[in-house]
Amino acid sequence: METKYIFVTGGVVSSLGKGIISSSLARLLLSRGYSVTIQKFDPYINIDPGTLNPYEHGECYVTVDGHEADLDLGHYERFTDIHTTRSNNITTGRIYKSVIEKERRGDYLGKTVQIIPHITDEIKHNVKSLSGDGKFDFVITEIGGTVGDIESTPFLEAMRQLKWELGRNALSIHLTYVPYLKAAKELKTKPTQHSVKQLQAIGIQPDILILRTEKDIPAPMRRKVAEFCNVSPEAVIQSVDASTIYEVPMLMHQQGLDELVIRMTDAPFRRLPDHSAWLDFLHRLQHAEKTVNIGLVGKYVELQDAYKSISEALMHSATYADRKLNLKYISSERLTPGNADETLSGLSGILIAPGFGQRGIEGKFTALKWAREHDIPTFGICLGMQCMVIEFARNVAGLEGANSTEMDPDTPHNVIDLMEEQKSISNLGGTMRLGAYDCELEEDSIAAKAYGKTLVSERHRHRFEFNDSYRKVLEDAGLRCVGRNPVSGLVEVVEVPSQTWMVGTQYHPEYQSTVLHPNPLFLSFVKAAIAKAELKN
Ligand code: GLN
Repeated sequence: METKYIFVTGGVVSSLGKGIISSSLARLLLSRGYSVTIQKFDPYINIDPGTLNPYEHGECYVTVDGHEADLDLGHYERFTDIHTTRSNNITTGRIYKSVIEKERRGDYLGKTVQIIPHITDEIKHNVKSLSGDGKFDFVITEIGGTVGDIESTPFLEAMRQLKWELGRNALSIHLTYVPYLKAAKELKTKPTQHSVKQLQAIGIQPDILILRTEKDIPAPMRRKVAEFCNVSPEAVIQSVDASTIYEVPMLMHQQGLDELVIRMTDAPFRRLPDHSAWLDFLHRLQHAEKTVNIGLVGKYVELQDAYKSISEALMHSATYADRKLNLKYISSERLTPGNADETLSGLSGILIAPGFGQRGIEGKFTALKWAREHDIPTFGICLGMQCMVIEFARNVAGLEGANSTEMDPDTPHNVIDLMEEQKSISNLGGTMRLGAYDCELEEDSIAAKAYGKTLVSERHRHRFEFNDSYRKVLEDAGLRCVGRNPVSGLVEVVEVPSQTWMVGTQYHPEYQSTVLHPNPLFLSFVKAAIAKAELKN
């Protein structure tokens, strides 16, 4: 079939969940046998979010091909099991960079380079080329920001042109907000009407409206919105706040969103959807009675989006273990030996978060020491793994002052050091060891048993590594290096066999945990935490 292009825009306010709606639609179309991909346009000038502080846009997600991406790509993958790449996340910065490079090469043959047509053509090229010459039946394009923002205007203009060129092969979904005014006890649709007018003013008629709301919007009110906005009544769908984002695909399906998209784009029928695996997950999630208490030690505790993939991965695993996840965010800056007992007791598992820089690092060592002394299942990820090695070096192997050269360039024991290929790098953007690499695991390791195989591929984002010249002294003291990259020999996984479950990974397994396929190492960690709690009771 010809590729169909679905554009998802947002109006009224930001944070309405365009990423969740896009992911949900992708899930529904996949379940009906179509091939689907999703991309996000981010209207900021950064080339990618890799250099952004998590306070700006939350976690930085990493794709298999080593692109540092917006966290919405994490939602896309968790909902769909699709592997995204750098083509699935484009920023204004990348569009301009590419156009300016073409201008310098002389590709524009002496023409004045302008937003229209050059920037818009570049945007259109990025939408259309994602279809891979018809490889995908549906390309879903989410346009970041809110309609009316100066920043997103060129993207909307490109979308207007594409809609015009593609006819029924393109569709526009607009997500808005219907506030409930407590004092008046009324839902208000006026902001939605204004938002649609703004879209119409730039030449885009939405085909489907999705109204985000806290309360059920009565049918007559939805009909009124349809009338005012030139949208057919069945194409006004509500998205009522759900108890979990993973319910949204089903809520959309119940209102016929997938059918509507298929009908409006004239897509040929493939098959009836099968949602049984998804519904099984939802059922477990909503009916788990027992709880598992996990602590996440990191420095961005007031901003939970900073650890989005980790908290989701823990939740996927807890759900498959029929437990409700009770995740306690613990500030590594405030954790001290003096308050460790009070803060950490009651936890059945401790996860030491990834990160950069000195801030909060001592708290991570405190948590690791406490976990080791109390034999609490502990999972160190990236910087968390590096901290696990440092704490072990200092307090078990007796290497006083051991550290990473990231924190202390003059440490007497650089158990974690800059990778050789990183030493000459001065640019910060996109220059880390990024993306998926193979890892060979020792057969009798916890990790190999968890994965059920000895060769795995997981994603990375780091500059520092385990210093192999300390391997012998650390192994003699009881640490095991159980995972290595088969090409470079870099140590990727360490374990402390004297503990019930103490595993550190230089890679980020959280990027590869999805609703239908929870990450095996997370599952093993959560199960170890559950077993620990049951032993105590
Ligand atoms: N700062 C560490 C490094 O660059 C760890 C990075 C991370 O946790 N993602 O190696």
